[in-house]
Amino acid sequence: MTDAALPFSFEIVPVTPFQQNCSILRAPSGRAAVIDPGGEPDRILTAAEVMDARIEQIWLTHGHLDHAGGAEAVKRATGASIIGPHREDAFWLDQIEQHWAQFGFRDMGEDCTPDRFLDDGDRLELEGIAFDVLHAPGHTPGHVVIVNKEAKLAFVGDVLFAGSIGRTDFPRGDHQTLINSITQKLWPLGEDMRFVPGHGPMSTFGRERQTNPFVADAVTGYGRADKDAPTFSMSTSIRPKRWM
Ligand SMILES: [Zn+2]
Ligand SMILES: [Zn+2]
Repeated sequence: MTDAALPFSFEIVPVTPFQQNCSILRAPSGRAAVIDPGGEPDRILTAAEVMDARIEQIWLTHGHLDHAGGAEAVKRATGASIIGPHREDAFWLDQIEQHWAQFGFRDMGEDCTPDRFLDDGDRLELEGIAFDVLHAPGHTPGHVVIVNKEAKLAFVGDVLFAGSIGRTDFPRGDHQTLINSITQKLWPLGEDMRFVPGHGPMSTFGRERQTNPFVADAVTGYGRADKDAPTFSMSTSIRPKRWM
């Protein structure tokens, strides 16, 4: 996507059988970062070439196979360093190959050892363009969200989707922790914040606060002065698709 208002351009490349949204962020000079190269490294490298982008950094939101499985291959091809997620996700990064095998795939991805883990409040930089790092556990314990406030654009991995939220039925996943991450870390960034989720179409925090059956304000009570008022439970009757 090329948007005159953005300090960088970006393309979304869906990869792996899970159609995971890998994003390539390109600064005006061509220096680039790739977020969540989950697999199909050749497709990612070709997309970068078409953009005339030189991948120098690999940023990971979390350690799941479809987000991190292609990171080592992209690193070998480009020399980029792998940064993130939070170290609490190391156990996921160590079982990517085994996890793919459980889904019946071989050679789909590799275990990953980041050059650096991230903490809440860290700052990433691409040619002077700053990105804030927020620790947002729940889907996985070491999940991070990467935010560019200038462009009002967030890369949220599997924390939040258009119309859904991340699964929490994996080891060390926790539903209430995920809801807290969304309401306490994401919503304060503003309703006009657009986001690229790990799967599916983009949306805005404002739209999800209106319509998301899991985390709409009517469900969570977020932003209401009277915290004791009853909240609706839409999620018991509606079961939108939830991704890996
Ligand atoms: Zn995913
Ligand atoms: Zn995931």
